[in-house]
Amino acid sequence: MERIAAARGSVLRCKGWRQEALLRMLENVLENGENPQELIVYASLGKAARNWPAYHAIVRTLKELEEDETLVIQSGKPIGIFKTHRQAPLVVMANCNLVGKWATSEHFYSLQEKGLIIWGGLTAAAWQYIGSQGVIQGTYEIFQSIARMRFGGSLRGKFILTAGLGGMGGAQPLAGTMAGAAILCVEAAEERIDKRLAAGYLGRKTADLDEALAWIGQAAGQGESLSVGLLGNAADVYPELLRRGIVPDIVTDQTSAHDLLYGYIPRGLAPAQASELRRTDPERLQDEAGRSIAEEVKAMLAFKERGAVVFDNGNNIRSQAARYGVTNAFDIDIFTEAFLRPLFARAIGPFRWIALSGDPQDIRVIDEWILEHFRDNEIVVNWIGLANRHVPVEGLPARIGWFGHGDRTRLALEVNRMVREGKLAGPVAFSRDHLDAASMAHPNIMTERMKDGSDAISDWPLLNAMLNCSSMADLVAIHSGGGGYAGYMTSAGVTLVADGTSSADERLRTALNNDTGLGVLRYADAGYDEAHDEVAKKGIRRVAADRAQEQEESHA
Ligand code: NAD
Repeated sequence: MERIAAARGSVLRCKGWRQEALLRMLENVLENGENPQELIVYASLGKAARNWPAYHAIVRTLKELEEDETLVIQSGKPIGIFKTHRQAPLVVMANCNLVGKWATSEHFYSLQEKGLIIWGGLTAAAWQYIGSQGVIQGTYEIFQSIARMRFGGSLRGKFILTAGLGGMGGAQPLAGTMAGAAILCVEAAEERIDKRLAAGYLGRKTADLDEALAWIGQAAGQGESLSVGLLGNAADVYPELLRRGIVPDIVTDQTSAHDLLYGYIPRGLAPAQASELRRTDPERLQDEAGRSIAEEVKAMLAFKERGAVVFDNGNNIRSQAARYGVTNAFDIDIFTEAFLRPLFARAIGPFRWIALSGDPQDIRVIDEWILEHFRDNEIVVNWIGLANRHVPVEGLPARIGWFGHGDRTRLALEVNRMVREGKLAGPVAFSRDHLDAASMAHPNIMTERMKDGSDAISDWPLLNAMLNCSSMADLVAIHSGGGGYAGYMTSAGVTLVADGTSSADERLRTALNNDTGLGVLRYADAGYDEAHDEVAKKGIRRVAADRAQEQEESHA
């Protein structure tokens, strides 16, 4: 099967840069993908397109698409081209949305088997994935937040235990060392360890637990940062550490625990054996995965009891453990509520930009501008400095930066100006994770324990997508969970292209302001003080629809 790589340079294959940008974004998710032959980008089943014929049809269509047309995509398959207008999205897509009672993993797998649906992950089918960097700042900010809350501001000398070195989990070792810690990452598949070593995300590897612990102990003892990939199964290693009386300072897991059939590998099985069992006895595979997760989560709970900071990093591991009898699995905190909510309440979240030219210098030029013009923004200045030094280029050069309302727009307009003035080698695409303020309802991750109990209301991501279409975004996507996430979530994604034109100025200004504006209002509506403060400071136009709201406003 062919190997896809994103085109670089200034030669267009499409009828304009906007279309070319989206085509390069699609190619880029596969260039960075974990299993591109199967069109799988990350998170065990998150796909870029329905199948290869659908992929080629998308590529063909993007090449033919006029600027006043819109391509409609359903679960990774192009459906039709519609005449719209020059400021309408070029692509709108809906991936993996099932009506309420049918939103189960069983229905999902059966529809997937029939070739009718795919799970798009968050950023895979929406062509927004940028490699492990996409989550690295989020993971880093979690570690920093724990450092501030529990360890006097630094993770030097601290031991982090985690698992999973896949598409997203592979960011953990680098985030851990950037935060100054000694981090042990348990991974069942050796090729995933090798991939992270080769990419510069991981320091060392071993299959020997004693050796791994000796390295970690020495590094932590000397206050040095180190990442170690340990070939093994988390459901073996976590309980074994406990048995030995070893309690890490921080414990989490980023295996694909959300998916019992395609994701989590049960103890006692090598990845190839798990694949074989999936073919011969899928029920047994799921049962064994569920029981292994239960053992791992029991160990996580015990670590918590012994004083470790333990958190769920967004892979539904607690829900799976609860299904397999661990009734107190939800004693483990979810990272969003525990560490990141005050940022999301201000719509500060994982914004990213991609140099479509393929020239890493474009990212460096933008980094420099940010360091000069966002001097007061501590989070961003610290991150850009670190990322510049430590984060390797994967696929099209890209950068992630946690910016909020107004700042995203300011940066994008400046970049558009740089493109216009020839200061960059080519146009730049802007996007963000679906895990952002207005764009995700996930009662076990993003919206767990919202102040007003609005956890499961998926109106917000739907409104977000509609508003982004009305706001002239270039690509808008609505996703719901597939596999083990079926029925658990709905999210929306958006991509914009800074091609240097004045119409791009208008699109960037409108769509980015409205995307984060709605995010602030979602949290204001749920009663978060930070959001009320942001509404007042930034002049976001909130409609006071009842007396309580009027009072909140007057207090802000
Ligand atoms: P992936 O499928 O690319 O990688 C998962 C890795 O876990 C694989 O390398 C696999 O070999 C390994 N693994 C599976 N079972 C194991 C076990 N028992 N012991 C050790 N290793 C095991 O998935 P990914 O893209 O890295 O995502 C991981 C999880 O994180 C998913 O559930 C995903 O949905 C979630 N996620 C969370 C966030 C967030 O914002 N926190 C973002 C993206 C993804």
